[in-house]
Amino acid sequence: TMDYGPALEADGEARAWLKRHDTTFGHFIAGKFVAPASGKHLATIEPATGKTLAKIAQGIAADVEAAVGAARSAQSPWAKLGGHGRARHLYALARMLQRHARLFAVLEAIDNGKPIRETRDLDVPLAARHFLYHAGWAQLQDREFADHVPVGVIGQIIPWNFPLLMLAWKIAPALATGNTVVLKPAEFTSLTALLFAELAAEAGLPPGVLNVVTGDGATGALLVENSGVDKIAFTGSTEVGRLIRQSTAGSGKSLTLELGGKSPFIVFDDADIDGAVEGVVDAIWFNQGQVCCAGSRLLLQEGIAETFRKRLIRRMETLRVGPPLDKAIDMGAVVAPVQLERIKALVETGVKEGAEKYQAPGPIPAEGCFYPPTLLWNVHPSSTVAIEEIFGPVLVAMTFRTPDEAVMLANNTRYGLAASVWSETIGLALDIAPKLQAGVVWVNATNLFDACVGFGGYRESGFGREGGREGLYEYLKPKAWSGRKARATVPPPSPAASN
Ligand code: NAD
Repeated sequence: TMDYGPALEADGEARAWLKRHDTTFGHFIAGKFVAPASGKHLATIEPATGKTLAKIAQGIAADVEAAVGAARSAQSPWAKLGGHGRARHLYALARMLQRHARLFAVLEAIDNGKPIRETRDLDVPLAARHFLYHAGWAQLQDREFADHVPVGVIGQIIPWNFPLLMLAWKIAPALATGNTVVLKPAEFTSLTALLFAELAAEAGLPPGVLNVVTGDGATGALLVENSGVDKIAFTGSTEVGRLIRQSTAGSGKSLTLELGGKSPFIVFDDADIDGAVEGVVDAIWFNQGQVCCAGSRLLLQEGIAETFRKRLIRRMETLRVGPPLDKAIDMGAVVAPVQLERIKALVETGVKEGAEKYQAPGPIPAEGCFYPPTLLWNVHPSSTVAIEEIFGPVLVAMTFRTPDEAVMLANNTRYGLAASVWSETIGLALDIAPKLQAGVVWVNATNLFDACVGFGGYRESGFGREGGREGLYEYLKPKAWSGRKARATVPPPSPAASN
């Protein structure tokens, strides 16, 4: 067995919660857990050990139908509650997350493999912040969006890289604006969504407002096809996004897609090199690189390339990979064996296509889905690893001579989610930023998120925004009101007013 060391966060409360449910979960429909219609379950593993953590229900059409039915019945009363009424519920959900922050952080870390430091400092607080922010909008809704109505019943499908945070990004704006939800979490990481649904019900969220149906991609496809769903909001791979777009075409359902990325991280000769090296660590080794907007393509201006490589490698030597509940580690486990194999295969391809490979020399646990921080140097822009999203802790590096060449290389991708520019010359950074085709550009920074800023992609990274005022429009339909009677009640302008 692994020596977890004294820095290990105790996981007693999370294990107790799993035990209370006999480590076997149904779907969460109309305010309670219900056994799956198929009677079938899927094992969800603990990436750090490879052991089965729990069993989740495999949803079939009957489960999806029941959940959509529950969401439909709940929608009109939820909308009629009004913005202020719904805000009270959203504040309660935020407080619920804060009250159980530790339980959520530990459960997320063991289910996903990500470091407890990240779940504790980022995933859980940012999820709570999302509910607080949208509670504020719900209060303003009657004033700010009086000419809009809710879309109705929303089917939401999310990935495994930020299970709880993606849940918050999806359900907070949907519920704030008067919609009800059927959520399909990723099959690798459904546990925090089930915990959230259970505690939300305890916190008084009316039954049917939030339903969780678990299962694999087939369950997701059933939700997409269900005729009772008014809109699909999807976050995941570009491939599945494309399938969903085909499947909803001509159905009258609205759709938003948050898909993959291959975001450039551009460092100019005059950049603060140490700052940029730290930026790289955050851009590609945060969350084991399983971040849709990860700065996965390092573009270095020729003059500093060699210095940068040396300092980056020195920094890689200090990165620690280990069990997620160890508070001193920098990187945890990759989510599942299938992802680990995919990463390994892509790195091999990169080397075959001519890249030089550097890996952090630190020890990594022998069991479980661990992979070291990796740098592929001297990568040709047409190499597979320069084009494909690796979705793991693998950075690919190439060089450029001029700012124009940097822009050309940066935009040479089918994606367009994020970009990061590093230079001490503000004029240069501000000249480059608008030329980059990406939903967000960070200057001398990376991975900055806030609930008040719309996040989303250009091109094959998808469409629609999450967060900010713009994110609310994705869950609202504009509605123009007019009529003779209404007009007749408006008093004619008084002579004084027309002065
Ligand atoms: P995935 O597309 O395989 O799975 C995402 C979700 O879709 C899961 O819940 C899965 O069960 C479901 N699904 C699979 N097939 C389906 C189908 N045919 N119909 C309906 N649902 C289906 O992606 P993943 O491997 O879980 O996640 C990694 C990908 O997600 C990466 O490409 C990453 O860039 C992307 N991502 C994007 C964002 C963003 O905001 N843009 C955020 C996180 C992850």
